[in-house]
Amino acid sequence: MDLTTRQEKIVRIVKEFEPITGEEIAKKLDLTRATLRPDLSILTMTGVLEAKPRVGYYFAGKTGLNLVTKELKNIKVGMYHSRPVIVERNISVYDAICKMFDDDVGTLFVVEDNLLVGVVSRKDLLRASIGSQNVMNVPVNIIMTRMPNINYCREDDSVYEIVKLLIDKQIDSVPVVRECENGLEVIGRFTKTNVSRAFVRVIQDNE
Ligand code: ADP
Repeated sequence: MDLTTRQEKIVRIVKEFEPITGEEIAKKLDLTRATLRPDLSILTMTGVLEAKPRVGYYFAGKTGLNLVTKELKNIKVGMYHSRPVIVERNISVYDAICKMFDDDVGTLFVVEDNLLVGVVSRKDLLRASIGSQNVMNVPVNIIMTRMPNINYCREDDSVYEIVKLLIDKQIDSVPVVRECENGLEVIGRFTKTNVSRAFVRVIQDNE
């Protein structure tokens, strides 16, 4: 919401002197209480200010920036994740490299009986390729990061929490999983690109 100059002045005064009565705000602005009434109504109705009877006005904090911050914290992985690219654990390093190019991703999720068992990144494949082994014969199973060391998330996790996880663990993505009887089924891929998309969307929605 765009505030008028006078409304911005009111907010500044309330922030500094809260709790403050309408009468006192009017005095500071050299205006009458009646002149301020419509502005104070708008500011309380939109949640920028909070009015407490017989006490005065408080700053409630729902300015544009605070709204964006709140929304960023509330958005869920399920709204932004991408389709997962999955390979079987016995696929060769060579075929995994081809798969990565074909599907244009930086991380493959490895499954056995449809359940998550590993993660293979670009650097894992590069490392295996510059080693002495024959990439045609080495299965990804040998080089992957495996359970229980895999970081993953669920659709209803907050994007904010998962961004912190990506930063903390220094990884580019996590599989989005659903618990099933014998383990974890991979239903998505949540990457740094998804984070950027979420960020842009929230800003655009608030413009
Ligand atoms: P790259 O290695 O291509 O830079 P990452 O930074 O995502 O890609 O991966 C770094 C290391 O972390 C790799 O060894 C990879 O196997 C591992 N890794 C990637 N994603 C995960 C994850 N979700 N959980 C655990 N380990 C991961």
